[in-house]
Amino acid sequence: MIEKIGIRKIFDSRGEPTVECAITTDRGSFRASVPSGKSKGARETVSVDFAAAERSTETLRKILAGKSFSSVREFDEVLRAADGTPDKSKLGGNVMLGFSMAFSRARAEEKGISLWLLLRREFFSDTEDGRKPSIFANLINGGAHAASGLDIQEYMLVVRPGERYAEDIALASDIYHSLGEVLKKKTKSKALPLGDESGYAVPLADNFLPIALLEKEIASRKLGKKCSIALDCAASSFYRKKAYMFGGKALSSKELLGVYVDYFKKCKYLCAIEDPFAENDEEGFSALVSKVGGKWVVGDDLTTTSAKRIRQMAGKKAISAVIIKPNQIGTVSEACDAIAEAKAGKIKTIVSHRSGETEDAFIISLARAGGVDGVKIGAPAHERISKFNELIRVYEE
Ligand code: PGA
Ligand code: ZN
Repeated sequence: MIEKIGIRKIFDSRGEPTVECAITTDRGSFRASVPSGKSKGARETVSVDFAAAERSTETLRKILAGKSFSSVREFDEVLRAADGTPDKSKLGGNVMLGFSMAFSRARAEEKGISLWLLLRREFFSDTEDGRKPSIFANLINGGAHAASGLDIQEYMLVVRPGERYAEDIALASDIYHSLGEVLKKKTKSKALPLGDESGYAVPLADNFLPIALLEKEIASRKLGKKCSIALDCAASSFYRKKAYMFGGKALSSKELLGVYVDYFKKCKYLCAIEDPFAENDEEGFSALVSKVGGKWVVGDDLTTTSAKRIRQMAGKKAISAVIIKPNQIGTVSEACDAIAEAKAGKIKTIVSHRSGETEDAFIISLARAGGVDGVKIGAPAHERISKFNELIRVYEE
C-alpha cells in the first residue's frame, strides 16, 4: 500500500532543475528522477515547472495515499485519468513519469524481483532473455548540444556487445580518449570543450569530418566487425523556412537525401541515421528508407515514443528503427507499449537517455525488460558513466 508520496527539486547534468519523485510503502521509500531534453520533439508530453509539479503532487497525494495497485499499468491508468489531457499538460509528463518509475521500483521490491524482471513479466512476457543491446556512445557533439559549428547533433560509436560489457565499455572509452588526442592535435588545443552529453564539442566546419575520424579509429584497430558509426542529425533543429541549413547551404529535402546517401557510400561503417529529416518531413524519411535498405533510419522527434506514431511511421515505411525515451511519453507502461509496438512492426529499438540527465539509470532495466537492440547513453565519461556501469549490473547480475 502507498503510504505517502513526495517530490523534490533536483538538478540535471546541465544544472537545470528537474524532479525527483518518491513513493513510500511499508517496504521503504522508492525514488526516481526524470531527465530533460534540449532538442525536443513537438509531440512530446509537456513537462511542468517545479511549482506546478508540487501542485500536481498535491492532487496525486489525495488520489494515491492509502491505495494499492497490482500492476504498473493499473497505477499509470490512474495517473492518466487524473491528468485527462492528451499531452499530459495538466499534471506534467515529467511528474507522471517520476511517480510511474518510483512505483515500478516499489512494486519490484514488493515482488522480491529486480526491476527489469518486473517490467519483463508485466509487459514483455513473450520476450526471450539473453539479447544484449549495442552501445551507442556519443563521442562528438554538435547541433543544439554544442557550439561546435557542426549541424549534426551526435556522432556515435556503436559497439556490438561481446561476452562482457566491461570490455565493451573499456573499448569505447579507449576510442573516446584516442579520438580526444586526435582532436587536440587537429585543433591545436590542450583541453577540449565537451558538449551536453560529454562528447567532444570542438569547432569543426565539415559535417563529414567526424565520421572520417571515427572511421579511422575503427579501421586502424581492425574493429570492423565489432564497431560501427551512427548519427543523430536532429534535423528539425536546422530546418528553417522549408529548407535544411546544412553545411552552410540551404538544401531541399531531396538534396539532403543525396548528402546522406553519399555519406553511406563514403563510409562503410555508417550503420544508422536518427532524425535525418524534420519531424514533419515524413516523405524525407520514407525516401531514405527506400534508398538505404538495411541501414537503420531511426525516428526520435518523428515518433516521440508514442506507440500510435510508431505504428503510423512503420506503416509508411518511414523508419526502420526507433528511439525510446520514457519522458517523451510520460509513463512507464506507455514506454513499454512503444517498445512492444516497434517490435511487432519489426522496427529496431534503441532505449535512450536525454541531454539533461540525472544519475537515475532506470532506462537500462527498461532496455533489458524489452530485449531492445541498442542503448544510447552518451560518452563513456563524467556524469554519463552511471548508465554504462548499470549495463554491467543489470545485464550481468
Ligand atoms: P535531447 O536530444 O536534447 O532532447 O535529449 C537527444 C536526441 O535528440 O536524441
Ligand atoms: Zn535524437
